[in-house]
Amino acid sequence: MIRRAGAALAALCVLAGLAAVPSHASPFALRVILNIYFGAALATAWSLLGGLAGYWSFGSSAFLGLGAFAAALMQEHGGIDDSLERFVVSVVAGGVASGALAAVIGYPILRLRGAYFSIAMLGVSLVLGELSNSVDLFEGALGVTLDPGTNLAPEVLFYYLFLGLAALALGVAVMVRYSRLGYGLIAIREDEDTARMLGVPTERYKLIGFVLSAVLIGLTGAVYAYSLGYITTSWVFRSDLSFNVVVYSLLGGMGTLIGPTLGAAVMTVLNDVVLGGLLQVHMMLTGLVIIALVFLAPNGVVGLFRRRRKPLSLALSEAPAMPVGQAPPVEPGEPILKFVGLVRAFRGLRAIDGVDLAIAPGSITTIIGPNGAGKSTLFNMATGYLAPTEGEIWYEGRRIDGTPTYRINRAGMARVFQIAKPFHGLSVYENVLVGALFGCEGARDPRKVTEEALAFTQLSPLAGEVASSLPVGHLRRLEFARALATRPRLILADEPCAGLNRVETAQMMAMLQAARRRGATVVLVEHDMETVMKISDKVFVIAAGRLIAEGAPADIVHCPAVIEAYLGKPLERLDTP
Ligand code: ADP
Ligand code: MG
Repeated sequence: MIRRAGAALAALCVLAGLAAVPSHASPFALRVILNIYFGAALATAWSLLGGLAGYWSFGSSAFLGLGAFAAALMQEHGGIDDSLERFVVSVVAGGVASGALAAVIGYPILRLRGAYFSIAMLGVSLVLGELSNSVDLFEGALGVTLDPGTNLAPEVLFYYLFLGLAALALGVAVMVRYSRLGYGLIAIREDEDTARMLGVPTERYKLIGFVLSAVLIGLTGAVYAYSLGYITTSWVFRSDLSFNVVVYSLLGGMGTLIGPTLGAAVMTVLNDVVLGGLLQVHMMLTGLVIIALVFLAPNGVVGLFRRRRKPLSLALSEAPAMPVGQAPPVEPGEPILKFVGLVRAFRGLRAIDGVDLAIAPGSITTIIGPNGAGKSTLFNMATGYLAPTEGEIWYEGRRIDGTPTYRINRAGMARVFQIAKPFHGLSVYENVLVGALFGCEGARDPRKVTEEALAFTQLSPLAGEVASSLPVGHLRRLEFARALATRPRLILADEPCAGLNRVETAQMMAMLQAARRRGATVVLVEHDMETVMKISDKVFVIAAGRLIAEGAPADIVHCPAVIEAYLGKPLERLDTP
């Protein structure tokens, strides 16, 4: 609280200092600083989606240009007489138009990942540019004149406006970064599939980030149009601007709050002051700077100064509790999870070929079967990653096939992946916090839940470590802690002991048993028969997508079909992950 107040006060002081600049600086210096604000506003806005969620748009000029032309249209055809009002409404129209475009194209375009999204956004900006050029209404080919209609000197007016825009973008970025939305977006950047499994509503969050970013870029585009006084298509739909905003973020530090501003400052000073705006030399030097930075400081300027976080000390006074969701609303005798006639085909292959299976609440149930039998596919369907080709999935008495993954998680089902998928760039603590922030509904303090889950998995001393630095045994526990933090009633653990030694395997089993004692139901995929015999209440055996046996562990090992399909082979030829 005190730190926050201090930061807010410092920010106000900086703003006040910057507000005093116009009366002291030369026109040239003012121009340079204004350009920095312009770049900072755009890059910070871009970073809301690009930096946090890792969706790099190479088409920011779509929103910039649309904002500019929307402002021009509103000025000409809005029918507002008062000049100040007209100016304000036109600028706002720029933000609204860009935000609306983002809302319309967001849903389909954000389904694209990585380079496909980047290129698609480039396409959007090209299409819009062409439209503004050829549709008569926009007058993009001939050009439109814009006039703010105030008595203020333009360089002073636009100095303040761009300062305001940069501050607004940074303010929004700070608010988003430390909100649930921010953690959700970062989780998407780190691993979108895992984020969904931890209850992050990925589609909605990406859309919100995209629209916020577009509104800010649109506002900036509108003010930019007024600052130019006259715009044509080629002046506002500028692909070099789209490129620059990405470079600013890279240079300053991708995904950091202040990085885009720093990058904008460095590049603008280099361009305007050192090179005197000589375009040819400027582009070459820009290129060289980028190459040098990517090699020498891939985390940007901010990355050079960032110290390693100290591990947080999280001594707990009470014995660690296991975060478990509320008591399952399951009728006595009813299964917590049920597959009915489940089929999943991948083209010709029926990976799951008519499976009926019911999991008793409060049990530890193990699914065994050779490699490729379809065990992970079952989990993928239960958690909503894959839709069944045929059949039904019931969870706690409700049919859940077709439900989005994040909803299934919020209903109390968590999953530990076969291949550990930590958020590599986040600390152990933050990894678990994402689960706690989303996950099963209920009004529990996410930080407390995080600490409980870390203590339960004995990871508290490593809370401050970056996940990418952990050895595999710890990663497995981290996965488990993160799943626990979502407060599950049902835990699907897909080979949680893969890659672990005997001691670590025993620890993991003890944790699963402890989770069960505290009320969770566990479904486990495991190969080591000794472990399976010890831990399971019930065993299902699947081979080639079909259930071939079920029963108590002691019965299963004597079942002829199981011996033939699975146990009959020498142990070392049984599948290893
Ligand atoms: P298990 O976990 O039992 O080792 P899986 O469920 O991963 O087996 O796979 C079952 C079968 O389905 C395998 O033949 C695998 O190649 C196939 N399969 C799984 N996922 C996909 C997919 N996304 N696309 C195509 N085939 C898949
Ligand atoms: Mg598998």
